[in-house]
Amino acid sequence: MLKKILYTIWLFLFCVIIVLAFGSANFNAFINVIENRTFDLRQNILVKSGIKKHNDNILIVAVDDASYEYILDNYGEWPLSRDVYAKVVDFLETQKPVSIAFDLMFVKSMKSAKEADEALINVFKKYDNVFTAMNFDNQPESLRVRPELPEKLSVNVENYSNSVDFSELTYFNCRPILEGILNSTSNIGMINVSRAEDGILRRMPLLLKYRDKFYPQLGLKIGLDYLKKSENIQVDKLILDGNSNLRLGNRRIFMDDNGNAILNWYGESGTYEYIPLYKLIRIVKGEIKNEYDFNNKIIYFGTTASSLFDIKTVPVSRIYPGVEVQATYVNNIIDNNFIHKQNKALTVVYGILLAVLTVVIIMGVNSAFVASLSSFSLYLIYVIGAYFALKFNNCWVDIVYPLLLALTAFISAFVVKYFIKSRDFEQQYKLATTDGLTELYNHRYFQEQMKRQVDQCKRYETEFSMIILDIDFFKKFNDTFGHQAGDAVLRQVAQTLKRNVRATDIVCRYGGEEMSIILPNTGKDVAYSTAEKICKRVSDRKFKLGNDKETSVTISLGVSTFPYDGDESAKLIEAADKRLYNAKENGRNQVGK
Ligand code: GH3
Ligand code: MG
Ligand code: MG
Repeated sequence: MLKKILYTIWLFLFCVIIVLAFGSANFNAFINVIENRTFDLRQNILVKSGIKKHNDNILIVAVDDASYEYILDNYGEWPLSRDVYAKVVDFLETQKPVSIAFDLMFVKSMKSAKEADEALINVFKKYDNVFTAMNFDNQPESLRVRPELPEKLSVNVENYSNSVDFSELTYFNCRPILEGILNSTSNIGMINVSRAEDGILRRMPLLLKYRDKFYPQLGLKIGLDYLKKSENIQVDKLILDGNSNLRLGNRRIFMDDNGNAILNWYGESGTYEYIPLYKLIRIVKGEIKNEYDFNNKIIYFGTTASSLFDIKTVPVSRIYPGVEVQATYVNNIIDNNFIHKQNKALTVVYGILLAVLTVVIIMGVNSAFVASLSSFSLYLIYVIGAYFALKFNNCWVDIVYPLLLALTAFISAFVVKYFIKSRDFEQQYKLATTDGLTELYNHRYFQEQMKRQVDQCKRYETEFSMIILDIDFFKKFNDTFGHQAGDAVLRQVAQTLKRNVRATDIVCRYGGEEMSIILPNTGKDVAYSTAEKICKRVSDRKFKLGNDKETSVTISLGVSTFPYDGDESAKLIEAADKRLYNAKENGRNQVGK
């Protein structure tokens, strides 16, 4: 049992070393890709089962395909003139929303649009709950000068260097928006996103670094504003705790190693209440009646029209408008719904636990089928557990790495189990076919092999011989020197036989002090001369008796050959026995005729 355990541990450690050796960047990246997919699957099941509830206080004003057509028909150009946005905002403010956010960037404009720009800038001056977006990038300075951003746009972050590596979220350049807006409001956030290698958007930055200062994501900024108003949470300074969580009052927003939060999805595209911009414009113009409730809502403007091109791929939808990503992000903040990843050390512990249980099951259960079924049930329970952790606790428990460890253990345990089994079998086979005293093959094995030889030689029409031999006056020998000395001589005679025949010959203890040799593919003459040689070697040899005494013994032998002396085993033995008897009669120490 101890041996079994040691073998398993050894092989398992070996596999772990391989896994760790593969713990190179490539291997990890590979594991991550699969892990991400399992995460997407979990999210999809949750979303499809309709458990996740989004926040009803978020509305989307969408520049959808219909609105885009409307704008081209009525204003003759895109982008929409900024004074229209200004009028829409003025109308919305009469409905007392919590905030109005633009997932749109008001970048430089044409000279002819100066008045329209002024109208929009005035809106930002007038209302402190209107937000807009900007974007960092890494354009070289030769293309665009790095703008200086107003101090008020940045946030103070405490403790950041401890746990999070912001290098991926550090940018060198920025696409500035209208100077007037930049100067008139601090309600500007970034809309940079963090896509994974596979192009799927699962994470979003909370903070971005630019010229050694931190700037919040637009969604974070809107969320902070909401929390300040509804929960009175102080947001002048952001604090990261030791576990890389961003602390907001009692809330902790999990940040991964690179400063990203993991988004929690509420539904496929079209989750939030959706108002086409053109309807809003018509309401403002008085063309149609307002049927929407904007009071106490967060109103998020963004494009969804296919030709306006702000489409992302997210776990729950291949085509998902950017503004809905932003809305989901804000929703995660205000409802404290971001996903946190399971602690890495715990993931390793889970993996080791699964692996150990696997080994215990496989080593303890005899049936391979039952052992496999139990192991895979265990893995299934783990996977279901991981699903429930996400469902009830917003916790992303790694599946792939622990299962990989468990599978490695699964395979190694089976290999070890069958390795041990085959070794046991070999040992038992040896035990069943050898004689303990002489270490020659035993009588049973001799009989088996005789039958085999007969069958084979019949089939291939070849010949084989056998020798049977008996030690002369061995009774007397025992009486003179004692049984122990007799045993020693038996062993040495056995050795002498083995040394003087071919490797393919089969030397057996026939019984008592009689031994037999099967000589495959050997004719009469060769068998006879082999017997003579053996006879001479034994009589020439000195046998040790222990306590420094030596003596000689002689043997008598009889030979028989298939098919001349018989066509079955018993007849051949009988013939050889008869010749052995002749040898004894004839004076011993010889091969009988
Ligand atoms: P011979 O064959 O020359 O006619 O005389 P023998 O004295 O050898 O006669 P027999 O073959 O009948 O005697 C067999 C003896 O071999 C009996 C027993 O004392 C001895 N013998 C048989 N098996 C063993 C054994 O395993 N160890 C020892 N020490 N003696 C054995
Ligand atoms: Mg005998
Ligand atoms: Mg004898």
